[in-house]
Amino acid sequence: MIVTGEAQHWAWQQRVLPPVEQVRPGVWSIPVPIPHNPLRYTLCYAFLDDTGVLLVDPGWESAEGRDAVTAGLRAAGATVADVTGALITHVHPDHHGLSGWLRSVSGAWIGMHPLEARSLPGRVWRDLDPATDRAWLLRHGVPEDAAGALTVDPERMSQLLGMAEPDRTFEDGDLLPLARHELRAVWTPGHTPGHLCLHDAAAGILLTGDHLLPRISPNIGVHPGEEGNPLSTYLASLEQTAKFADEEALPAHEYRFRGIDARAAGLIAHHDDRGHEILAVLGTRGESTAWAIAAELTWSRGWDALRGMLRRMALGETLAHLRHLAATGAVRSDGGTPELWRR
Ligand SMILES: [Zn+2]
Repeated sequence: MIVTGEAQHWAWQQRVLPPVEQVRPGVWSIPVPIPHNPLRYTLCYAFLDDTGVLLVDPGWESAEGRDAVTAGLRAAGATVADVTGALITHVHPDHHGLSGWLRSVSGAWIGMHPLEARSLPGRVWRDLDPATDRAWLLRHGVPEDAAGALTVDPERMSQLLGMAEPDRTFEDGDLLPLARHELRAVWTPGHTPGHLCLHDAAAGILLTGDHLLPRISPNIGVHPGEEGNPLSTYLASLEQTAKFADEEALPAHEYRFRGIDARAAGLIAHHDDRGHEILAVLGTRGESTAWAIAAELTWSRGWDALRGMLRRMALGETLAHLRHLAATGAVRSDGGTPELWRR
């Protein structure tokens, strides 16, 4: 893997916001801050075209974010009013938060994969009451006294519930409506069900969203109401992405890089190691809940340092691994309440 976004990499190490950069003729990278978040910024990409400006992932909703998008477009020789469309790689708030504002000030359409539209918090959580959420936690082995701290915070949810509905949807292989760029949607489910990367073959770039980041391994987790197997899906997407080996990766966080195949292989190996760690825990403990297994895994700051939503994410990641291991035949679930797993 080779870092190509040198100014971005330097800024990452200095803990400052990287510069607005033109990465190809008519393609700009605009860092949009995420206040009070270790990810620090989202890299929004602007495609300047005869038809107007297409923005990919406008970023987190905040006054600083709106200012950064406005100033970044100005540096590129455009204005917010020129924006005709916003393509969202996935509906997490650090990507999709500003879409509603952007549409209201420019009239731009908002586009995403249809499965992403279905997983908008406003749709998923509308029907999920706190009792159902709590029952899900208990089913996966969370002790009664810990479940309270892990249930979803309604304060935080209220912001997410207001995120914009799309005006258009794009499926795998669809071209974005641009005159000067042939930008094609590449469906890469895993981090979210409808995650899209975007490929511009002429420019030799792949916008990777959160699917492939140079340093961070994106969260692959199971959430209440989802019965799928996101990790198997993600690993299959990574294998598909390796075919873009010759392209420069333009990720949604951190910095640009080359070596998409090497990075995809590294992430696959990382998940493979994690699977082995889970099998080792089950070998020692015998039958266990996902929560009990999660508590024995290695976490970068240790299990005890994980609190609240971070612990919930750890549980979701462990469950994603267990479902993937079950699909390969390495573990079995008893399907009960609490749900117990064994080798
Ligand atoms: Zn993100």
